[in-house]
Amino acid sequence: MSQNIESLLIETRLFEPAPAFSAAAHIKSRAEYDRVRSQALADPEGFWAEAARELEWSRPWDAVLEWNPPFAKWFVGATTNLSANCLDRHLGGPRATKPAIIWEGEPGETRTLTYEDLHREVCRFAGALRGLGVGLGDRVALYMPMVPELPIAMLACARIGATHSVVFGGFSAEALRERCNDAGAKVVVTADGGYRRGSVLALKEIVDEAVVHCPSVERVVVLRRAGNQVEWNSPRDVWWHEAVDASQPVTEAVAVDSEHPLFILYTSGTTGKPKGVVHTTGGYMVHAYLTSKWVFDLKDDDVYWCTADCGWVTGHSYLVYGPLANGATSVMYEGVPNHPAPDRLWSIIAKYAVTILYTAPTAIRSFMRWGDEHPRRHDLTSLRLLGTVGEPINPEAWMWYRDVIGAGRCPIVDTWWQTETGGIMITPLPGAVATKPGSCTLPFPGMDIDVVDAEGRSCAADQGGFLVIRKPWPGMLRTIYGDPARYADTYWGRYGDMYFAGDGARRDADGYFWVMGRIDDVMNVSGHRIGTMEVESALVSHPAVTEAAVVGRPDSLKGEAIAAFVTLGPGHSPTKELEAELRNHVAKEIGAFAKPDDIRFTQSLPKTRSGKIMRRLLRDVAAGRESAGDTTTLEDVSVLARLRDGEE
Ligand code: ATP
Ligand code: MG
Repeated sequence: MSQNIESLLIETRLFEPAPAFSAAAHIKSRAEYDRVRSQALADPEGFWAEAARELEWSRPWDAVLEWNPPFAKWFVGATTNLSANCLDRHLGGPRATKPAIIWEGEPGETRTLTYEDLHREVCRFAGALRGLGVGLGDRVALYMPMVPELPIAMLACARIGATHSVVFGGFSAEALRERCNDAGAKVVVTADGGYRRGSVLALKEIVDEAVVHCPSVERVVVLRRAGNQVEWNSPRDVWWHEAVDASQPVTEAVAVDSEHPLFILYTSGTTGKPKGVVHTTGGYMVHAYLTSKWVFDLKDDDVYWCTADCGWVTGHSYLVYGPLANGATSVMYEGVPNHPAPDRLWSIIAKYAVTILYTAPTAIRSFMRWGDEHPRRHDLTSLRLLGTVGEPINPEAWMWYRDVIGAGRCPIVDTWWQTETGGIMITPLPGAVATKPGSCTLPFPGMDIDVVDAEGRSCAADQGGFLVIRKPWPGMLRTIYGDPARYADTYWGRYGDMYFAGDGARRDADGYFWVMGRIDDVMNVSGHRIGTMEVESALVSHPAVTEAAVVGRPDSLKGEAIAAFVTLGPGHSPTKELEAELRNHVAKEIGAFAKPDDIRFTQSLPKTRSGKIMRRLLRDVAAGRESAGDTTTLEDVSVLARLRDGEE
């Protein structure tokens, strides 16, 4: 931990925004970005206050920021309501009848909710929650399929000042139970079932199993979605439609304190046991609002699609709160991207004339593997902007996204942020900043971000180090639920007044950021500290490889040896020759000492349910040990068993 991380990857391609895109963008040039950014650095509070004034507050703030490290308060003394800012604020003008959500179910049905419709449904469900005894500060767990009622329930909680905790609808009963108990949820909202990969996932059944051991849970609200049979437990269970019919709508949104907890969300569990991240209202709202507007360059005629599930922070900030606060039209899709065929996403883009697509590198690598013929079959000319989030994107995948999906026309915004940051932190502004494949480019204005060494000194250009945030920002997490000591220790223990993100990064001579992977995953090979991202990208740049994960394993000579897990594209088979070729390819791309010592071919890699590679589990496989770590967020446990047995 005392040394820096070496940087190996050299990427020289640079893509300037097209003049026509820039001319119409919210931020129109590099000069404008530079000016806004330096003003915001000089006066961050003034910068965020100006953004906040574009939104509605019931009572103005006395101070923009109160900072008692590591605890921040934003828009101190103000009151507001996020559901009113996402809904009521738009009802006075033409946005009232504009689609807020265009939804498509996996079986193919569609529903469009205008801002008026969404407002009505949210008021009604807010009334239902109130009727069940949910009040200010009560926690409500949402364990639902990706149907409009999920954002409706989130907004309904926000409307009455209840704190929601969305649990991804693919998690097990055990994972749901842990989260309900940790948050002390009073009510769980679920559905009979949801459609996934062509069949019905019986959510209510999982809730039944989970909540028998959740003493805090008083009521379970059940939405009728899939029509499957459910067990009924009266008086605990209540149908969504009956609860709504039995209550008065909440037309008046409750003005809550700016620091009132809006939601608790558990991290993905990529590096360990998930943390219950707490976000509050005012600062989060401003952060989600302004980043949505500038990063996605949202305009009134856009059809915007964020493919993330509402169970992840991306779904919170960039499917629900950010786009709706901007009065945008959001597409929402219930199912998996390859049902009934691998072209499902592209058919949705063509059908609704989607203009902005925001997805994850893991999805992009799958699309590459499934083949170009699927996107090529559809008219994707409505697209004007592409985005990615969740993991470092390999330059190879970035180029594919640009060429095959964007037809070389659409800028790509590679956005770095975390559940903890609440919103986007490092990103190109698409009309202003030239992009480099694999780099998330430059900080969003108002964000003071650096790469530092173990002592907290800024690293020189191209020297790898630790990614930190030097000043508080409005969307930052306020604590870990019920565990302020873990909050202080995890994020602030290392540098005191700088936030430690847990990621390794470097900044190049142009000031561009390159995330090199998790600090926990850095390998120490013969005294060289190597991040995972660059070796993986070198492997993925070979035409036979579609996905790669590398980890260190103990080695008596070198300290650690590099073990690579590699997935091949169609038409390539695992041979000794290919293995040698891949090792030489890495040596040629980034250097001989980064050559993998072992290469194992595999059909699939262990991933979180949000699609991120869990290298901590691969480290155990590579070292031949049993895994001791938390596996509750693992997508497919059998992958691990197969890798351990060496079947693939
Ligand atoms: P846990 O904290 O439980 O291990 P997690 O870190 O995967 O889970 P998230 O908050 O969903 O939980 O993910 C944030 C992390 O994802 C970042 O710290 C970073 O490692 C990675 N990440 C997100 N976006 C990018 C990006 N654009 N480029 C590189 N890495 C990214
Ligand atoms: Mg994390």
